Amino acid sequence: MYQRDRQQSPQGSDTGSASTTTSSQSIGSRSTISNYSRHTSVSSTSTTSRVTALRSSAADAAYDRQRRSPTDSSYYDLDSTPWTNEQPGAQTWINAYEVRQQVADSPATEQQPYPSPYYNREELALQANIPCLHHPITPGQTTAWQEGPSPGAVRSFYNGNDRTVFDVAYHDPKKAISTRRNDPFTKAVYVAAAPRTVCSQCNTYLRNGNCTTPRCIGP
Ligand SMILES: [Zn+2]
Repeated sequence: MYQRDRQQSPQGSDTGSASTTTSSQSIGSRSTISNYSRHTSVSSTSTTSRVTALRSSAADAAYDRQRRSPTDSSYYDLDSTPWTNEQPGAQTWINAYEVRQQVADSPATEQQPYPSPYYNREELALQANIPCLHHPITPGQTTAWQEGPSPGAVRSFYNGNDRTVFDVAYHDPKKAISTRRNDPFTKAVYVAAAPRTVCSQCNTYLRNGNCTTPRCIGP
């Protein structure tokens, strides 16, 4: 049965903290089923066991799939955390333009199951005023997540009156699993696109500092 993130209710305990140390890395195991997925859209035991098998066989390769930097397009880095643990080799980064367009397409008011209120007991450095809304982010699309597919681990955080101001965070299995329902959030790191320079001779973009135009004497 689907359950949305409710660990941040105002009545909840205030044990969450944004501060983590490197020692927490050893607590979370890569073979651990992320806490958030136990309560998402897994609806049968066969699905659960299949996901478990995939994680045990392909988890290492999936977790190493990290986007290189610098890049020609800005993105959010999930620090090797797959955006969903229901797909082997799931992306560990999300294009910034996809996030931007998804947030712009997300509802401005609370809805079931998302967007739902977020009270920031974890004290994430969010730009939105608290309480804000949080809503699933799915890589590879520019429209907002809608109920049906798994919401994955990634969320946008915004106020409905200005969806141009937002942050991205994800349920982080590398953090110690708390007594609450879901893994604590970690903010995704925004990686800006590398500045692009053009050839002084032919005005095309350089590639690794070199002009690729045939017979051009640039850059
Ligand atoms: Zn050139």
